[in-house]
Amino acid sequence: MIRELRHQKIIELVTQQQGITVQELTNYLKVSAMTIHRDLQLLEEQGIVQRVRGGVVTGTQKFKINSQKESCGYCGKACSPRTRLTLFSDSGETILACCVHCGMGLIQKGNDLKGGLGVDFLYETVVDLPGGYYLFQPQIKICCSPGVLVFADRQDAERMQQGFGGKLLNFEELLKSFGVHRDF
Ligand SMILES: [Zn+2]
Ligand SMILES: [Zn+2]
Repeated sequence: MIRELRHQKIIELVTQQQGITVQELTNYLKVSAMTIHRDLQLLEEQGIVQRVRGGVVTGTQKFKINSQKESCGYCGKACSPRTRLTLFSDSGETILACCVHCGMGLIQKGNDLKGGLGVDFLYETVVDLPGGYYLFQPQIKICCSPGVLVFADRQDAERMQQGFGGKLLNFEELLKSFGVHRDF
């Protein structure tokens, strides 16, 4: 398993379970504890997870993604840390998109993209894209059009929908809204 995919899997597992042991991670991912420790160190340096005795946590505390300025792989604009998507390719590349709009464009044309992360609009925490909730075309201007807000939590998305309108979608529905018909 390539490193980026493994990192993504780790983030998924840590987020889903609000914390996980190194032992569990080695079982799930079938790699050595040494490899897991190296991965966790890198992810911790990026502020995505926090290592604790024997394991790693996230979720209860809100960890922020680094706010590095990089350009969108689709439109070339600078990626805002609030709206950007990080996509992973089979070959181990990481491709950034300025927002969901451009992320969908990249997914549509890049057949080797496998998985990705977004940023929760309210808390700026990491959201595993397939598990996220999306507010499609709310009445707020965000990056490209159609605008889409990303949320880890359905209730947050619903609350924002009450204030700003838009259509609440899961990831599958989001793909369809952008005319993407491929597995991701
Ligand atoms: Zn873009
Ligand atoms: Zn954009």
